[in-house]
Amino acid sequence: MVQPSWLEVLILLLLLGTSLALFWLRLRKAVGATLDARKDPDFQLGTLGPRLRGFAWEVLLQGKVIRERPLPGVAHALVFWGFCAFALISINHLAEGFGLHLLSREEGFGLVYFDFVGVFALAVAVSITGLAIRRFVARPEWLGKVSAESGVIAFLIFFLMATYLAGLPDYGLAEGSPAARVNWWLHTLTLLAFLPLIPHTKHLHLALSPLTVFLKRPRFSQIPPLAGDEDFGLDTGKDVTRIEALQAYTCVECGRCTEHCPAYNTGKVLNPKEIILGLRAYLNAEGPRSEAPLLGAHLSSEAVFQCTTCGGCEYQCPVGIQHLPVIIGLRRGAVNTGKWEDDYGTKLFLNLERNGNSLGFASSERQKFIEKHALPYYDGSQEYCLWLGCMGAYDPQGREIVLALVEVLRYLGISFGVLRREKCNGDPTRRLGNDYLFSQMAEFNIEQIRGSQVRKMVSICPHCVRTISEDWKECGASFQIEHHSELLARYRDKLPAAPAGGERVVFHDPCYLGRYRNIYDPPREVLARAAEVVNPPRARERSFCCGAGGGQMFLGEEKGKRVNVARAEELAATGAAVVGTACPFCQTMFRDAFGTLPSPPPKLLDIAQITAASLRS
Ligand code: SF4
Ligand code: SF4
Repeated sequence: MVQPSWLEVLILLLLLGTSLALFWLRLRKAVGATLDARKDPDFQLGTLGPRLRGFAWEVLLQGKVIRERPLPGVAHALVFWGFCAFALISINHLAEGFGLHLLSREEGFGLVYFDFVGVFALAVAVSITGLAIRRFVARPEWLGKVSAESGVIAFLIFFLMATYLAGLPDYGLAEGSPAARVNWWLHTLTLLAFLPLIPHTKHLHLALSPLTVFLKRPRFSQIPPLAGDEDFGLDTGKDVTRIEALQAYTCVECGRCTEHCPAYNTGKVLNPKEIILGLRAYLNAEGPRSEAPLLGAHLSSEAVFQCTTCGGCEYQCPVGIQHLPVIIGLRRGAVNTGKWEDDYGTKLFLNLERNGNSLGFASSERQKFIEKHALPYYDGSQEYCLWLGCMGAYDPQGREIVLALVEVLRYLGISFGVLRREKCNGDPTRRLGNDYLFSQMAEFNIEQIRGSQVRKMVSICPHCVRTISEDWKECGASFQIEHHSELLARYRDKLPAAPAGGERVVFHDPCYLGRYRNIYDPPREVLARAAEVVNPPRARERSFCCGAGGGQMFLGEEKGKRVNVARAEELAATGAAVVGTACPFCQTMFRDAFGTLPSPPPKLLDIAQITAASLRS
């Protein structure tokens, strides 16, 4: 390596100082806004093991990126690993500009490391070219508008790799030659131009995403508790928490959330990427101490109330952004301050207040159903408390699912009883942001369950299971409850095996059972005893919502195509004779949607109904 002249050192010093200053000026804005935001009321670092495992999988191994989009995922991972490998090389490169030699190119570790990074440089150059072709030629819709910024960044990365490879003594330009010196400066200028672009563009995620992934809330769709009587949710900038601000600045605008959003894919205003970018735009324009409303110029109230809370966005995000606490937080801000006005929403809240159920039936109807079918009351001697929920207690189809499950439980010899009094668990009010009503519902039920000395509960509804097991923790309750698919799967060997050539059942994964509870195999194992199980194109973690969640079943879905129709068409197109469900909400949504299909629809049955039918045949 040629020793630099004093003039070269001076120029490098000026350029490096400018580059670092520009880098910090922009980064400081994001860091400042994050630290200025209010502290997260529920943040606990907790045990480090799960956080470190998540960090290793999502950041170091790029596991989530590769799993969800294998080809572009590997290309992205190679660029990331290449950057890691280049960190030492870049420090050494700049040090050489000041006449310091941290790594020897002739011996020891350096001899091997320069060539090792050379392999990465080739991989990065190929990967970044592939990613640029995808972005500028293939142009998937969810990536959004083509930006010049992405093109400049891709070119700079490619040029960095090209100049590195050209500078390798054994393969590139002759060491000490004028051409090698020009190449050294080209590499340096590219590096110094790239550095300040990182925080000025979506590539800010390079600096922030490791921290965001490490610090994200540990549970899926974890809604932070309100911090006292003055906390109404996300109403103004003052309500935005540090984790939410950090996540907003980390978005890499990849559009994975948008690609999987049922609302966006059926022509609604909602685009989860724009929710996160809207929050970032608000923080940039107003700051985290602003009292300007969050819903307005940067975030749309209409969009926020179109969300089905399916969790597809949160599940997909490769940089640890958690959309649901933001979306539900914004709903809370609007509902708890009385700013949300919606006839359907008002009717739902009134039904819950007056009748204790979301469907608006007199509560005595539940009692009549129990008595008509001689369902036993839970008295502490039975193994399970069978939680009916609104759908199981009042909806005709939901009741059929409950009766089918009762038949299977009796066949298996599992004792059960139902509660004398039960109200809605609070799921739709929780997701719609009405915290007061949610607490009322939860506290009433908690008292009933505690008073009945319940040990274990089972439910046909994944929404009930999620809300009781997770959301009620905020009210101090911790109950053991499982979905009937989990219970039945444990007893599957005692169920009759299907004769060969049974009906084909296409199974629809409910969002609140799959993404929320990570239960995918048990319902399939139960079904496989009675039928041949097939998957629709979007299954398991990628399942497409039925459109009911987040209170949507009770609201008017007026824009675009109906979500339930889009999913019902996909399920019917598999040609299966039966659509298998594991959630009474899904079944209701598909029952409505099947009426719009041009050809005779498949049968629609819950896994409990299919199992009960197999006992009779
Ligand atoms: S939770 Fe589902 S509906 Fe809501 S924004 Fe995310 S992907 Fe869209
Ligand atoms: S929120 Fe996550 S998934 Fe959505 S665009 Fe941003 S980085 Fe991608």
